[in-house]
Amino acid sequence: MHKARKRFGQNFLTDNRVIERIVAVIAPKFNDNLLEIGPGQGAMTLPLLEQVKTLNVIEIDRDLIALLTDFNKDNLVIHEGDALKFDLSILPNPIRVVGNLPYNISSPILFHLLENRDKIVDMTFMLQKEVVERIVADKGSKIYGRLSVMIQAFFEAELIFIVPPESFNPAPKVESAIIYLKPLPKTEVKNMAIFEKIVKASFAQRRKTLRNCLKLHLSQEQTAIDLSQRAEMLAVQDFITLANDYEKQH
Ligand code: SAM
Repeated sequence: MHKARKRFGQNFLTDNRVIERIVAVIAPKFNDNLLEIGPGQGAMTLPLLEQVKTLNVIEIDRDLIALLTDFNKDNLVIHEGDALKFDLSILPNPIRVVGNLPYNISSPILFHLLENRDKIVDMTFMLQKEVVERIVADKGSKIYGRLSVMIQAFFEAELIFIVPPESFNPAPKVESAIIYLKPLPKTEVKNMAIFEKIVKASFAQRRKTLRNCLKLHLSQEQTAIDLSQRAEMLAVQDFITLANDYEKQH
C-alpha cells in the first residue's frame, strides 16, 4: 500500500460514484488525445483507459510510476516528471487535459497550461472548491480577483460539481470541486506579460481605486476605463482594454 505523500499533494480518490461522474463529464472519445496530470494510484486512469486508444499520464512520484507500470496496460503512456515542466508539444495535438490536481501547485499548473492553450481542446480538473469559486467569480464579488481575470480572459470556466473530503484518502481539510475549462476561440490580449502586470497591479490593493493602484502605469487621459473604480468592479474585457492602452504608451 502506497503511503500518501503530503509534499506531492496526494489525496487519492476512493469514491467510485465521484470517479464515474468525473469520467462522465470528460466523456472521452476513443481517439481523444487525453493527458492526465497526477494519475496517482490510477483512480481515474483505469476507467479512462477503458475508453480511449491512448492515455498519456504525467506523474512525479517514482513509487507511483512503478505501480502504474505494473498495470501493464498497452494503451497507457507514462511520463515521469514534473507537470510544471512537461512539454505538451511532444504529444499529438490537440490535447484534452484532465486530473485531480495536487492542490499545493494547482495555480502554477493552470498558468503553465494557459501558456500552452493553443494545444488544448479543454481541461477537466478537480481543485480545491475555494480555488474553483475564485476562478469562476463574477465582477463585483469579494472573491473576484487576479485568478478570475487571468483565467477568464482565456477560458470559458464552469464549476461542475462539488466533492466532499470523505471522497478521498487521506481526506483533505477542504472541500473540492470539478471545474471545466475551454479555451476561448480568440482573445484580445495582445501581450501576456503586460496583461499579467496590469491585472496584478490592479488587485494589489483591492480597497484602493485603480487610479491609485495603476499610478505607475496609466493615467486617466490614457484610457477610457474609469479609474475612479476599484478593480473588482471591472469586467475581464476592461482589464484587456487597460493592458492594451498601457501597451500603446510603451
Ligand atoms: N489522480 C489520483 C487520484 O485521483 O486518486 C491522484 C490525485 S493526487 C490529488 C495528485 C497526484 O499528482 C499525486 O499522484 C501526486 O504524486 C501527483 N503530483 C504531485 N505533484 C506533481 C507534479 N509536479 N507533476 C506531476 N504529478 C504531480
